[in-house]
Amino acid sequence: MLKVFKCKHCNMKFVLLKTKNQKRFVPVEVHNLEIPDDDEVYDQKRHTSHLRNCEKRATDWNEVMLVIFNQQMR
Ligand SMILES: [Zn+2]
Repeated sequence: MLKVFKCKHCNMKFVLLKTKNQKRFVPVEVHNLEIPDDDEVYDQKRHTSHLRNCEKRATDWNEVMLVIFNQQMR
């Protein structure tokens, strides 16, 4: 199961989904505990990117993504 993270700016829960080209992670909002499957890729029709709703997260996302990514690799 995908790990659920919490936005430190607004406490919104999100999971990381890869984009189709696998190059980036998108923080997808989790509503009503509906957690996407492990192998889902980000689809803007089905998922809500938290970057669209949270200005602060959109600003620090590149940095945060790197930190999370490095933790997962360990
Ligand atoms: Zn946020």
